[in-house]
Amino acid sequence: MLNLLLVPRRAVIRPNSIFVYMQEGTVIKTTGSWYDVRLDSGEILPCRMKGKFRLEGKSLTNPVAVGDRVRVEIEDGDAMIKEIGSRSNYVIRQSPRKKHDLHLIASNIDQAMVMVTINYPQLKQGFIDRFLLMTEPHDIPAHVIVNKVDLYNDQDIEIAEGLKFIYEHIGYPVHLVSSTEGTGIEAVRDVLKDKTTLIGGQSGVGKSTFINALQPHLELKTTDLSDYSGKGQHTTTFAEMFELDFGGFIIDMPGIKTLSFNNLEPMDVAHNFREFFAVSENCKYPDCLHRNEPGCAVKEGLESGALFELRYMNYLKILEEIEEQNYWERHSHF
Ligand code: GDP
Ligand code: ZN
Repeated sequence: MLNLLLVPRRAVIRPNSIFVYMQEGTVIKTTGSWYDVRLDSGEILPCRMKGKFRLEGKSLTNPVAVGDRVRVEIEDGDAMIKEIGSRSNYVIRQSPRKKHDLHLIASNIDQAMVMVTINYPQLKQGFIDRFLLMTEPHDIPAHVIVNKVDLYNDQDIEIAEGLKFIYEHIGYPVHLVSSTEGTGIEAVRDVLKDKTTLIGGQSGVGKSTFINALQPHLELKTTDLSDYSGKGQHTTTFAEMFELDFGGFIIDMPGIKTLSFNNLEPMDVAHNFREFFAVSENCKYPDCLHRNEPGCAVKEGLESGALFELRYMNYLKILEEIEEQNYWERHSHF
């Protein structure tokens, strides 16, 4: 069979060079300076890329994301990404290392999942809401996966059911699963089928175990929590896309420690807590941040019980953090 790579598509003759030709594909893995591209011919090719890139007015720590459609130029066996297709959506976060930069995690996704556990590790207050602040600006549908239910005592179950009630009420489906026992996995498989899904969570929640349960042949490395020293842990910060044999792709976003937002203004936060935004047209002031403003529909909603305190507490916390960050940016000359 002909190796498709050897068939020039758009051949250009260059001085001192053999054929140069272009192929298109999707980025499936980024490792800093290399990008694995699955060409439309099926072949996976490590590529490089030159240049600096910006998005939303900030420097990007990585110019290309998993999920990006790219055009690759292949010359003498070297592959170089020359063009990035326009993105239907993307997920970015503040770079964990450079707080002024943005890190592009994934693009062109259909939906996202945030995996949490109630106690193994302990769920950080506000974690789910922070994750949703990454997906909501692009209206990316999101699901919450509560893993390790096999370990839960009655109180943990109660908390998990409480989260399910709250988030499903707002419009985010919640699935209680056990990746080791297989409980609830089938239902999630139906959600994943034929879609490109980004999945993220704190490290140790069981993402790798979950992906292995869905797709055993992938054999992702899992971490034994019993010898989890935290020191010298190899924590990768790069996402990777896997194909699911029942249809679709899953993008594994590496373990998240914290999520901060140098790319958001207080008003963006207000707009992306979707149930607050939905009622905010009834606030007296169009730029209401739902704190102490008179005639605030969100405050009314909280009082009547139509809106959830838990979300509101987390909202205030994030708002405060962003205001503080903005203050220091304006008053720092470094
Ligand atoms: P990741 O860091 O999110 O990829 O987490 P891993 O998949 O490496 O899992 C961390 C630890 O949790 C491993 O010891 C897994 O065996 C364990 N684990 C994952 N899912 C479950 C589950 O549903 N139940 C129980 N009891 N343990 C789990
Ligand atoms: Zn308001």
